[in-house]
Amino acid sequence: MLDSIPTYAMATMRLPPAVVVALDKLRRAFLWSVADRAPGAQYRVFRSKAEGGLGVRALEHWRALRKLLPIYRGLTRVHVGGGATTSFWHDWLLPYGVPSAAFPTLFTHAVRSEDTVACARQVGVRALLVPRLTHLVARDCVEVQELMASMVWAPRADARLTPLCRAPKGAFSARAAYRLARFGGTKASNSVFLWSSPAPSRVKFFCWLLTMARVHTRDVLLRKTILTAAEAGCPCCHAALDTADHLIFGCPFVVCFWTRLGLSPAGASVASLHQFDASPAVGVALPSAFVMLCCWRLWKRRNEIVFRNNAQSLVTTLKCCRDDADLWRVRFQHDQRPHVDVWLGVLASS
Ligand SMILES: [Zn+2]
Repeated sequence: MLDSIPTYAMATMRLPPAVVVALDKLRRAFLWSVADRAPGAQYRVFRSKAEGGLGVRALEHWRALRKLLPIYRGLTRVHVGGGATTSFWHDWLLPYGVPSAAFPTLFTHAVRSEDTVACARQVGVRALLVPRLTHLVARDCVEVQELMASMVWAPRADARLTPLCRAPKGAFSARAAYRLARFGGTKASNSVFLWSSPAPSRVKFFCWLLTMARVHTRDVLLRKTILTAAEAGCPCCHAALDTADHLIFGCPFVVCFWTRLGLSPAGASVASLHQFDASPAVGVALPSAFVMLCCWRLWKRRNEIVFRNNAQSLVTTLKCCRDDADLWRVRFQHDQRPHVDVWLGVLASS
């Protein structure tokens, strides 16, 4: 009863904050007179029955829920039917996404921000805007109207889905929702290459840095003003700048290295390391882990030159790759271990 009295008013108009507070006060006072008010007594009314209260909902409760509405809209996608329960401005409606974000200037000319799609279809987008529009806003309005006209509306009620926050069995995944809200939920194209590999963790971490050109090649040290431009050349050849791309795919030695393995480094880059295909050399024998092994060894060879002035020959580098592959074998799963023999064959016959 106490909950239902203000419901009609709340369904038809937005209550001012002072009215909400006053209504809550009246509802409390109905149960708890001022004379016998004890500290914390007001909260007992609003606590759930399991928590020792009466389970009356504070009107503030609805305001707290309303604050979650933008997040809920951001996480859901609507299959628009009649459009009566879909917000025209704030739901993911257009191919571009949310109209208020895709057309921010147009949105600033909206009369009401809570208009529904049904309303927009009935009276037209122009009728949802203030009378006077600038030239640019008028153009946006025409574009949105054309988009609305080109969309197909199913003859059914609106359906709200959570395709971006779905757990494997179809349930809502709070973890996915958190990720989506925090970082946008975009998936990196190299994540499987980097993190599903059976390579040792430090090698995977090195390759992660490498794909972003954040290993300490001399161009990075130059950027950090640790070296001067005259000192930033490749330690192995006469290239003017030592970069991650040069280290892995550009230096004459590494070109020779990849060619000996039967691979062509032409056009490859560290940013798309995951697309560098080693299967012409090793077939299906974990080609991505093989690429990681080679990159790791090329980095080690470079450091040998920088710190010990020891330029390993191609034969020695291939031998080091074989030694590493032998060590990696023990951390591989049993069914992956035969792949290491394929690697050893390729590295030996080269
Ligand atoms: Zn070089």
